[in-house]
Amino acid sequence: MLFPLALLLAAQPLAQGQRTNHPVTGPGASEAQVDSDGVELAGAFAGAVRVPSSDKAWGGVRTGRERELSERVADYNLVAVLDPEHHAIEGHERLSWRNRSDRPLHNLYLHLYLNAFEGPGSTFFTEARRYGGFRLASIEEIKKGEHGWIELRRIEQAGKSVTWKFVHPDDGPETDHTVVQLSLPQAIPAGGTAVLDIDFYDQLPRVAARTGWIGTFHLVAQWFPKIGVLELPGERGATRPRWNCHEFHLFSEFYADFGSYRAEITVPKGYVFGSTGVEKAPPLETAESVRHIVQQDDVHDFTFTAWDKYAAPLEGSWRDVRVKVLYGAEYAEAARIALKSTIDGLDYFSRTLGPYPYQQVTVVVPPYNALEAGGMEYETFFTTIGAVGQPLISLVRFVTIHEFGHGYFMGILATNEFEEPFLDEGLNQLWNAKQLEGETTQFAAPGLLGQLGLRTPKLSYWDLERRGTQHFQADPIAGSSWMRYSTSSYGLVYHRTALAFHDLEKRIGPKVIEEGFREYYRRWRFRHPSTADLEKALEDTAGQQAPLVRQWFEEQIYAGTPVDDRVDLVEATEVVPEPGAVLQADGTRVERDVKEVHKEIRKIRQAFKKAHPKAKPSEPGPFPWRSVVEVRRYAAHVPQKLVLKFEDGSSETLSWPAEERWHRYLLERPTPIVSVQLDPDRDVLLDLNKLDDGRTREASRLVVGRWTLELKAWVDLAFALLEAL
Ligand SMILES: [Zn+2]
Repeated sequence: MLFPLALLLAAQPLAQGQRTNHPVTGPGASEAQVDSDGVELAGAFAGAVRVPSSDKAWGGVRTGRERELSERVADYNLVAVLDPEHHAIEGHERLSWRNRSDRPLHNLYLHLYLNAFEGPGSTFFTEARRYGGFRLASIEEIKKGEHGWIELRRIEQAGKSVTWKFVHPDDGPETDHTVVQLSLPQAIPAGGTAVLDIDFYDQLPRVAARTGWIGTFHLVAQWFPKIGVLELPGERGATRPRWNCHEFHLFSEFYADFGSYRAEITVPKGYVFGSTGVEKAPPLETAESVRHIVQQDDVHDFTFTAWDKYAAPLEGSWRDVRVKVLYGAEYAEAARIALKSTIDGLDYFSRTLGPYPYQQVTVVVPPYNALEAGGMEYETFFTTIGAVGQPLISLVRFVTIHEFGHGYFMGILATNEFEEPFLDEGLNQLWNAKQLEGETTQFAAPGLLGQLGLRTPKLSYWDLERRGTQHFQADPIAGSSWMRYSTSSYGLVYHRTALAFHDLEKRIGPKVIEEGFREYYRRWRFRHPSTADLEKALEDTAGQQAPLVRQWFEEQIYAGTPVDDRVDLVEATEVVPEPGAVLQADGTRVERDVKEVHKEIRKIRQAFKKAHPKAKPSEPGPFPWRSVVEVRRYAAHVPQKLVLKFEDGSSETLSWPAEERWHRYLLERPTPIVSVQLDPDRDVLLDLNKLDDGRTREASRLVVGRWTLELKAWVDLAFALLEAL
């Protein structure tokens, strides 16, 4: 999903009226629904998986020597005619679905995603009222003619009709129509394949949540009846066959089997067409229309766009992969940035994870007013954002790389985006940040100030990621997309994930993380990994550091333990002779009172001054100094470094072991301490507040480097600006 607006979501503090009413229950609180085939339905409490999948899950590791890239389970043959005037589609689908389970099945489940947009009774809009509008839209703003829905007209299995009924696996409102259960006239035997013929009709919504139309522009996504995923024991924590076919939730994306997609899409003449996959034959033209014949194997979704105002596509390539950017003439600059960024993404992801396995990438720059169709990913096809000038033009590169990256974290690593959204959004965000390491962006100030040239400081990708992590979190990263305390608590799936793996990388080293993720990709490409499968791939690569990875997952992935280390005290006193009966080195005692001691100190000072007439106050004097530094941990234990600066300009770096709750450092040096900075290299980005990481002896908070109040203010300003758009 769109990166900058997701950032905004995360940036919102808990706004009034946006809290959820979820009961105080936890996973396991609801009884699993089981259908008449004895197959369980994943429900409202499904979430992050803690048990690694079996080696045989989804046919085992793909070696690359198989005839097909993926184990194909659901093949689709789609025939559709787009009526751009009514924003409607007459569709036919032939679905071939393989029963991988050990039992005959009488029931199948289909997603009817477009019904999320039919009105206030859907699970989607019920949640939108609870959490606030999705992105820019709110239900109150939807006018007549702008709702969207899908109707099943006919379903047949080998010429016999199939009946269906709406079901609610996540206990959503009865008025939700996004999941149907089919009753088949003929059971599908174990290992057998069902072939269903489905006629359907789509009324597309005005662009909302990634799909729809505006004017004559159409982005047609989540538009056909789509079968749920039947998971087998050993796959993503299932202990018996389990259907995974969740209702369409506000924040949720998707989950589907791999398969072959073939589509024949008819659009009016004069419309430029783009889609998942590649055209297999020249388009068939009639007097009024053009039929495009498209195919893509080894993906799990199919999306297309048609618009009569696209400019001639911008084309480029990376090795054998063709890149095509579709855009309206006003967004030529954004299109150029999108092309370059996609090619950079192909290069980076292919180098760091594994070669891009498809022939083509199609990038859509949606027109003005269609921002809701922007920033969305499908395999071999994605949408970025259009922009003219600041501030959004600065984000086109970020958004493009993010959406391209989903081709890996979501596309090839086909995770369950309903139940474990951090595995696509968060890991992708991490990999985007790694790719963009060293690059910065700037935003112009709004209005006149911007015109006068006032701009933010250069912001790195990590500066942007820090946004929204400064609060105590209500939910861990790992968890479903709907069981969330608030909108911002969903947003942390993005940023906190990136920061958590950033900090882990600083502890165990970039090599372990890079090899670990390569191993995760190798094991799980063209399959459906879980949180536990990611953890296992990283642990197996980490060798001796595996226990640390395990602990990190416990604290930072499955839980949301805050990190909050502070410098509490910085003091220095001069070490001068003191009164008392002091034992000398030769064993004798010398007893002096305060008066005598003062006299002696004065004498030594005068002698020093005589010997060093030009000594500055910052230079070592006649007596050494004892400095005291106290640091304290308020939450999770992470190892830290401290840089101590002294009056004479010298500095020392000390380490503060992770095991300690506090440490008091006593140091005797020629000059007093001036300041202390915790985490000088910015290794610990999860820390709640970087402003209390630094302190001077005068007890003021020391603000160094990029962690300035000013920077925070600028980031706030940049996001307030975006929010207003
Ligand atoms: Zn995303």
